[in-house]
Parts: sequence; structure tokens; C-alpha cells
Amino acid sequence: MPDVFAELVGQDDAVGTLRRAAASAAAVLRAAHLPAPAGTVDDPDDDDLAALAEADEDAAAGSTAPAVDPGAGMTHAWIFTGPPGSGRSVAARAFAAALQCVHGTGCGTCPGCHTTLTGTHADVRLVAPEGLSIGVGEMRALVLRAASTPSGGRWQVVIIEDADRLTEAAGNALLKAVEEPPPRTVFLLCAPSTHPEDVSVTIRSRCRVVPLRQPSAAAVADVLVRRDGIAPDVAQWAAAAAQGHVGRARRLARDPEARQRRDAVLAVPRRLTGVGTALDAASALIEAAEAEAAASVAESDVAERAALQTALGAGGTGRGAAGATRGSAGQLKDLEKRQKSRATRAQRDALDRALVDLAGFYRDALTSALRAPVAPVHTDTATLAEAGGQKWAPEGALRRLEAVLECRAAIEANVKPRIAVEAMMLSLWRG
Ligand SMILES: [Zn+2]
Repeated sequence: MPDVFAELVGQDDAVGTLRRAAASAAAVLRAAHLPAPAGTVDDPDDDDLAALAEADEDAAAGSTAPAVDPGAGMTHAWIFTGPPGSGRSVAARAFAAALQCVHGTGCGTCPGCHTTLTGTHADVRLVAPEGLSIGVGEMRALVLRAASTPSGGRWQVVIIEDADRLTEAAGNALLKAVEEPPPRTVFLLCAPSTHPEDVSVTIRSRCRVVPLRQPSAAAVADVLVRRDGIAPDVAQWAAAAAQGHVGRARRLARDPEARQRRDAVLAVPRRLTGVGTALDAASALIEAAEAEAAASVAESDVAERAALQTALGAGGTGRGAAGATRGSAGQLKDLEKRQKSRATRAQRDALDRALVDLAGFYRDALTSALRAPVAPVHTDTATLAEAGGQKWAPEGALRRLEAVLECRAAIEANVKPRIAVEAMMLSLWRG
């Protein structure tokens, strides 16, 4: 039976960190002579993690502190970051299970692991906003409940799946709890990145960050076959083409529109015949990213707005309705602001995916020109990439690959996407 971390695809570093932390957490409980019998009330002065920190210091100072790995200790607040599909919430749930595991390892089979993974553990709370963002009322109630003594004698765990969707007020309520954490409470936040648009700087500064990376193509193909029942040959193609991105690979394997968009991007290199076509290709790439982003957020935008209006009593005719509508203007504005920033991020992500596809093509041209014994990223354009590699020689292929990577870096550094993409297309054409 695989343990709770088995579902995390290709995340060896993160899993190592989490295993060590779970072992430290178990050591804390052992030191406090736990698990305590049901009904036992904790000594309010007993700060287990402070004790652990001391144990860590002892270990660092060279004394023996058995079962506690120096520097790998437990902490009250964690942020799991990584690109969509890398398994942020899978990691958070697995870690929660390991914390509740009666063996302290995340064995996957004991009642602690099992109830956490199936969402029925009394001391694990999951916040996953469906439609609405996480508001301050919900967060305050959550923080209050999380401060109570764990009924199972281990930890109170709060998982916040979309920490980037906290309202500002909710973020402040969470910050208070993270700043002065109850001794047995652990917050696990999931967010795309630690960018201030996703997680406030003050919350970030109180958390340990667990970065998840894009897993290897082989690991992704394996999970597509095993978990999603996709045919092995399709899974291998999609995993390679997605360059290890789990969600992207699944979409490519299943969604014809995603395949069409990728085909359009990979048609760019042979269309670049002059300045005019280069600028046209830049426009097409930007507009395709905008359209893809708009389609990806449109549905949730409408649903969120409708849900908020319902929650605020819009359309009601009772005496409270008029007042509620006046008070709700601010909340609607807040929602619109967040939706706009999400749309911008979706656009940036869509454009970045296109650039990663394009970089894969020039990488294939380069490896082919060098006769490097590695598999191509895009098997379906391998012949074209090979022809390019012969024509351009390794130097020319490398210059083109660098032009794509520079474009990604420029957009990341907030250069206007259209300007960066136009510059890239011109470099790709000139070579
Ligand atoms: Zn277990």
C-alpha cells in the first residue's frame, strides 16, 4: 500500500521536506507524551512548537536530540506554491494526513491518514471556495475553531486551497492567527506563487514555502495512464508535449481545442518569412492567449457574480433588500477587481504556455543539430525541427531558443507582452 505522498507526481524535494516535518511533528507529540486520552485538556502554557524549536537548537549545537532532524522541524504555517497542475492541494492534503497519522509517517492506511484523505477527520478543515472568494466572516469562524484543542490529540489542521482568493479582510484575520498561532494549529495554504498578488507579503513572511515543480514527462505519462485511464501512447505524447505539466498533459490528451491551439503555435516557425509575417505572428499569439484566457475565466466570473448577488440578496423585495444592495456595491467592486487580476494572470499563463511550446520546438532543432541522443519534446514536429536544425546550425538554433526564453523573462519582468513578443518574432525571423 503506497503512503500518503504517493499521489504527488515527481516532487521528490517537496516530499522529503514534508516527511521530515511530519517526523518532527510526531517527535513533538511524543515529547508531550501523546496521543493523550480523549477528553484530556491541554495545559494552556504548553507550547509544543517552542519546545521543538529548542530541540532543533540543541541539535544544531551538537547535542543529541533523537528523531528531530535539525533545520527540518515543524512549523505552524506553510504555503504550497507551484504552477497549476503541479499538485498543490494534493501536497497539502498528504501533509495533513501525515500530521494526523497515528504512526506519524503518513502510512496511508491508519484511521488518521484515511479520514484525512477522505475529508472526514474532525481536526482537518478544508477551505475550497466554490464560486465566492473566502470572506472575512468565514475566515474568522475558521480561525476560532482552529484554535480549539485537537479532538484526536494531534493537530488542528486548516487547509486553504486558494489562498490567492482571500479577500483583504479575510487575509488580515488569517494573518492574526498565523502571527500568534495556537500551539497545536497548523495552517496549510495553497497558491500559484508567493507573488504579492497571490499572497500578502506579511502572510508570506510567516510561512514556510514548499515549492512544487513540474514533474518529469515519464512521471506525468504514468499518472495519466494510471489515474485517468488514458491510452499509453496518447499519454506519452501528451506528457512530452506538455513538458511535464500534469494538467496541460491531461488537457492535450482530452481536449481537441487545446491541441488546435498548440498546433497553431507550432506552425509559427515556418510562417516567419519577413517583417510583416513576424508582426502578424506576434499579434496572433497575443490574441490567441487573450481568447484562451477569456474562455477559461468567463464561466467562473459569471458564476461568482451570480453567487455573490444571491448571497447579498439582490433581487429581493423585502425591507432589508435596498440597504443590502447599497452595502453590496463595495463587495461587487472587490469581486470585479479580483476577477480582473485573475484574467490578467490567466492571460499571462496562456501566453507563457505558448512560449514554452515554441521554446520546445527550437530546443528540438538545437538537439537535432547537435545530434544529441535525447527524445524530442514535440514528436509531431520533429521532422520540421530537424530541417530547421540543419539549416540554422547549432548556433542559429540556440539564438532562436534564447530569443524565446528572453521573451518569457521580459514578460515576467513586466515588459508589455506585445512588445516582448514582437521583438521575439523578429529575432526568430532574422535568426
Ligand atoms: Zn497513517
